[in-house]
Amino acid sequence: MSKNKSSESVKVVVRCRPLNRKEETSGEVIVKMDLRLGQVVLRNPRAPATEPHKTFTFDAVYDSNSKQRDLYDETVRPLIDSVLEGFNGTIFAYGQTGTGKTYTMLGAWLDPETRGVIPNAFDHIFTHISRAQSDRQYLVRASYLEIYREDVRDLLDPNHGKARALELRESPDTGVYVRDLTSCVCKSVKEIEEVMNVGNQARAVGATDMNEHSSRSHALFLITVECSQPGPDGRKHIRVGRLNLVDLAGSERQAKTGVHGERLKEAAKINLSLSALGNVISALADGRSSHVPYRDSKLTRLLQDSLGGNARTVMVATLGPAPQHYDETLTTLRYANRAKNIQNQPRVNEDPKDALLREFQMEIARLRAQLNHRKGRSKHKKEEVGSSEGWDGGEETEGDEEVEKEAQEYVKQEEQRLEREKKAIGEDHSLLAEEKQQLLGENQRMMGDLRKEQEATEQLTAKFKAMESKLLVGGKNIIDHTNEQQKMLEIKTQEIAEQTRKEREIQQQMLVRDEETVELRETFSTLQQEVEVKTKKLKKLYAKLQCIKAEIQDVNDEHVRSRQELEQTQNELTRELKFKYLIIENFIPPEEKNKIMNRLTFDSEEDQWRFQPLVPAESKFSQMKKRPTSAVGYKRPISQYARVAIAMGVHSRYRAENIMFLELDTSPPTTGSLACSPEAESNQSPSSDSSPTKDRAGRVRKSRSWCQAPKTIASSSSNLSLAACHTAVPTAAQ
Ligand code: ADP
Ligand code: MG
Repeated sequence: MSKNKSSESVKVVVRCRPLNRKEETSGEVIVKMDLRLGQVVLRNPRAPATEPHKTFTFDAVYDSNSKQRDLYDETVRPLIDSVLEGFNGTIFAYGQTGTGKTYTMLGAWLDPETRGVIPNAFDHIFTHISRAQSDRQYLVRASYLEIYREDVRDLLDPNHGKARALELRESPDTGVYVRDLTSCVCKSVKEIEEVMNVGNQARAVGATDMNEHSSRSHALFLITVECSQPGPDGRKHIRVGRLNLVDLAGSERQAKTGVHGERLKEAAKINLSLSALGNVISALADGRSSHVPYRDSKLTRLLQDSLGGNARTVMVATLGPAPQHYDETLTTLRYANRAKNIQNQPRVNEDPKDALLREFQMEIARLRAQLNHRKGRSKHKKEEVGSSEGWDGGEETEGDEEVEKEAQEYVKQEEQRLEREKKAIGEDHSLLAEEKQQLLGENQRMMGDLRKEQEATEQLTAKFKAMESKLLVGGKNIIDHTNEQQKMLEIKTQEIAEQTRKEREIQQQMLVRDEETVELRETFSTLQQEVEVKTKKLKKLYAKLQCIKAEIQDVNDEHVRSRQELEQTQNELTRELKFKYLIIENFIPPEEKNKIMNRLTFDSEEDQWRFQPLVPAESKFSQMKKRPTSAVGYKRPISQYARVAIAMGVHSRYRAENIMFLELDTSPPTTGSLACSPEAESNQSPSSDSSPTKDRAGRVRKSRSWCQAPKTIASSSSNLSLAACHTAVPTAAQ
């Protein structure tokens, strides 16, 4: 499964945007960049001029004149190439709001000069596929999500906004994934751009203030590229590369001081993912801590593989050059500097169990076999078509178009043949009329069968084609408009970028070595010379020492600041807690409180308290939904003994229902008009004054609610007949 187990560090590059219009008036810049060495020099605008500047070294730096293309060719291209080979890759932009994260990741969509990493990656991926060898098949999928206030939202879901936040799940094969996330199969740059547009629109619609929203939410665009190609063993192997393109929320501190209740919680949640990311980076960079707090936030869980796991990762830290952002710029540089030390273990994902491409190939092979079988059956072919084919059997004996054409040809021939036969029967005078009729009927039936068969084949073909169109074949599906010269130019640009990168690496190494080596072997002709050289060296080292001391002081200050902030947050939360506690203690009865507390459980997966269901889940159906077998057909459960006793017609004590049986009341209806006087009533109904009948009728009416539903209900109340009234049981039975 693994091809390359060697570890490599996270690549960190820094990009500084130009001064914006507001900042241009002062024109002061505090960031200087040495592109050749990959260094950023930061000046503290508040410090005296004598204070040494802070220097940070990265894999590459891009100043305000840098082009989007430079960053892409030098830093991103190698990463996308490895995703196309089956590695996992992640690019994330980190920095204060307004420093160019979105510009770097997205850029101006339609302008080729200023389009960012994501649109350039689309072009790169599909151009690569168009130039690949034709024995390769590709499947490209895209998903788009955002994390806002610790909720994961699917940006491709039409119900975005109304839909519930998605859940994160972990599987041993694929690691952490988002359950029920929409994933779109894309066959071209246009299609994947459309996916991106839909997501961006959903993001804009969901937010009242887009700028505010985007600076507080993390956007993740995920691309999965699956590629199948024949291996040395002759079988087709699938490699799956997953690419995460992440535009993080603004890294500036959210104002937490002076806010209470919901606002405080919201601020804490917005910061949570980023501070958790910082903690994860610190824990990984430190190398000593055994626990990496990935589970502290949704973002860190989703990026688990990208930080210290199976992935190649590039971090683009963005800066602003203006003096008013000195503190944030320094924090970003420190953050980025720490991230350099993270080690990843990227490896090729070969033949993973969840490869969708394999499922597609199997389904296509199945449909193809069905089609071929149909054709074979109709032609009465002896050979077992399709047995030689499987998704990794590889060889397709015939092109699909050929198969279809042949099938159509066959149907046409058959139709003609049947037509001819029909004509021949009609013209054959030697046949009897009856025989003729029979033969014509037979012919008609065969014709019908043939049509049905043809329809089924057509349906199958359509399904097959729809399925197959989703797969991209190397060098086939996409027309490559670039000519050979352009291709060569691209290759050369790539080579130059690689060369620059190597040169910079060598320069950096030389610089480090220069500082470290003590020139032991150096011989000095005079004592004076030795003193001079050593004084120079001492001065250099002293300056370095001062720098480090200042750094330590800075870090300590920052530590104290963040501790104070945390303490303040803690105080606010404690106050909140005391308030809630007071309400609970004084206004909620203790037994109610206990009931609630006994039902609460903590869901660590969702990081939330949940109520346990009142009825345990497993017995929910058996207890609540199903009637006990002893009650089937009865109102209440009844014992086996009682059942037998009832069947035997024994004593009524064994009856759970219909304890009382009553005689049929055959007396005529006792109806009368309400307006009638008592005398008139007695005249109208002579039998109504016979008290036993009246009594009995009253009892019958009363006992109705005890009895099973009568089989037939007569229109009059006194005509009531009881279902179980076979035997007349005296009223004393009650
Ligand atoms: P963020 O996403 O970090 O909040 P944006 O990407 O929205 O910041 O950038 C803020 C502004 O700065 C935008 O108007 C953008 O065009 C401009 N900008 C950022 N980086 C650059 C750059 N490298 N070159 C030119 N303009 C830039
Ligand atoms: Mg942005």
